[in-house]
Amino acid sequence: MDLYEYQAKDLFGAHGVPVLPGHVADTPAGARTAAQELGGTVVVKAQVKTGGRGKAGGVKLAADPDEAQQRAEAILGLDIKGHVVGRVLVTPASEIAEEYYVSYLLDRANRTFLAMASVEGGMDIEEVAATKPDALAKIPIDPIAGVDAAKAREIVAAARFPDAVAEQTADVLVKLWDTFVAEDATLVEVNPLVRDPQDKVIALDGKVTLDDNAAFRHPGHAELADTAGQDPLETRAVQRGLNYVKLDGQVGVIGNGAGLVMSTLDVVAYAGEDFGGVKPANFLDIGGGANAQVMADGLDIILGDPAVRAVFVNVFGGITACDQVADGIVQALGILGDAATKPLVVRLDGNNVEEGRRILLDADHPLVTMVDTMDDAARTAARLASTGA
Ligand code: GDP
Ligand code: MN
Repeated sequence: MDLYEYQAKDLFGAHGVPVLPGHVADTPAGARTAAQELGGTVVVKAQVKTGGRGKAGGVKLAADPDEAQQRAEAILGLDIKGHVVGRVLVTPASEIAEEYYVSYLLDRANRTFLAMASVEGGMDIEEVAATKPDALAKIPIDPIAGVDAAKAREIVAAARFPDAVAEQTADVLVKLWDTFVAEDATLVEVNPLVRDPQDKVIALDGKVTLDDNAAFRHPGHAELADTAGQDPLETRAVQRGLNYVKLDGQVGVIGNGAGLVMSTLDVVAYAGEDFGGVKPANFLDIGGGANAQVMADGLDIILGDPAVRAVFVNVFGGITACDQVADGIVQALGILGDAATKPLVVRLDGNNVEEGRRILLDADHPLVTMVDTMDDAARTAARLASTGA
């Protein structure tokens, strides 16, 4: 998960990295109030999860609250590389003597972490990297040893930071490493890290990517998620721990195992060609050990999609055998009750398939049609979705 600048700088601040205070506003009037509270000249900054905001006109100085309001008016709604600005950060303007660049990232190719630093920071670090590779120091970081004061000084020396800011920058580097490790980030970047006329070093911009695989260790990170921009069904699926991706078709798909679900999408799309171009409505992998509750949660999400007109449940019994899955489907329909409104085509195969089919036959649920093969089941689901019957 990528964070907004203001969220990144909140994390920096919590780990002792020098940042400036700020207020987030989603209206010009809010930006005016924020500027009033801060006093003096402020910067109004677009909050979008992409770089190059400065060049796109998304970062503007404002001398007083009136101007802050005007700047926010111009920036809110701006399209920056496909990201429409919904909020601005209002923060005290800094006087800048120099702009530096520092970052830590996961260096996948070399299976380690990497520190990068340059005294030529600011807007175009990619260009510095391409045209003046010597100006961008790259230092591998041992994941066990991490960055202590000595390692930080090594980075500072390699990037040739001026003496006046060397110790401060080393201290910032140690604290940014603390942030990187403690928050389970895969990227922490500050561009620019500035030197002000009093030689004070401040992180003026911040970019952080958190490792979603470590989310379980950070209950607090959930509130950093940008649920406003996310599909509401996907949000609900994440809350229930389901692997769901909304697509734009009409056949809801549930399967166990990502590979099976992906091939199910293909088969449904292929079968749908004969029925007016019916397509899969989603990807949903309920995983290996899916019980009745997981099946019910999955069905609930899929039936909550108004575009869905039929559902294809495609399960290959493995460790969780077909009879358990069939029990799960029957119980899920019981849990959902009247909320289950659309036809379900079920294809079971694999471990204990006979027993699984018998359970579904015995249950004789009016919405359920059992089909033996994947191709036939996909055709049936596509036909039901096209007729809406
Ligand atoms: P980015 O373009 O998305 O990376 O946005 P930044 O936050 O890095 O801002 C871009 C540029 O705006 C910086 O490199 C600075 O040159 C300038 N800038 C940002 N904040 C201030 C500030 O407080 N004072 C001044 N004078 N310039 C600023
Ligand atoms: Mn920047």
